[in-house]
Amino acid sequence: MDMPSSSANTSKVRIAIDGPAGAGKSTVAKMVSDLTGYVYVDTGAMYRGLALAALERKVDLEREEELLTLPERCGLSFRWDTGRFRVFLGARDVTEKLHSREVDGAVKAVAGFPLVRQLMVKMQRQIAASDDVVMEGRDIASVVLPDAEVKIYLTADFRERVRRRWQEMVLKGEDVPWDDLKREMAARDEADVNRKTGPLVRVPDAVVIDSTGKTAREVALTIVRLCEQRKVMG
Ligand code: C5P
Repeated sequence: MDMPSSSANTSKVRIAIDGPAGAGKSTVAKMVSDLTGYVYVDTGAMYRGLALAALERKVDLEREEELLTLPERCGLSFRWDTGRFRVFLGARDVTEKLHSREVDGAVKAVAGFPLVRQLMVKMQRQIAASDDVVMEGRDIASVVLPDAEVKIYLTADFRERVRRRWQEMVLKGEDVPWDDLKREMAARDEADVNRKTGPLVRVPDAVVIDSTGKTAREVALTIVRLCEQRKVMG
């Protein structure tokens, strides 16, 4: 897999943001990244990249050993910066293709495999070793960066989460029936919470933020203030 070489540096700052789909993690994490200058890491995009590769190659989503060969075969790689995280298959930037319903459906299976997760976690830790990061996902505070300086569990009412996802799809021109989306998101929540390896959990020392009725900026500023309070910045 194409990864820039990195050297371990223990003085890096890590902000871990976990939470269910539609809680606003990506928007908030990007904003925090812009406000702090820390690198933005979208771990969901990493799993989605692998799911997209599997769909394009028509790989059986139930066969972990085949999925594990895909990063090499498809040239799955990532590029990151402040406020931006991009996914490539070979020379193709596929970032904009990662949020289709098809990928939504496939990513559940891909993210459930322990060895797939092991591979992703290794890469996520490599990124955090070379840069200050705002990393968002499901298992960041619990598995990937258990020593993160700031841990946030971001959530929102289920209805609000479905509404945000629905709006996102409508804006992209995808016509998805509300009830179908509701069902699909409930199924993804269930898979995220109940998988054996790296499930979505709220670690005891995470700060819980409910984004229902709040703007992304409000939430992002709360997180930045928290970082300042903990004197991890500057
Ligand atoms: O955050 P996003 O919705 O893009 O993540 C897509 C899927 O990838 C999630 O539903 C989850 O199954 C999986 N995922 C994961 N662990 C992470 C990030 C995402 O299992 N750290």
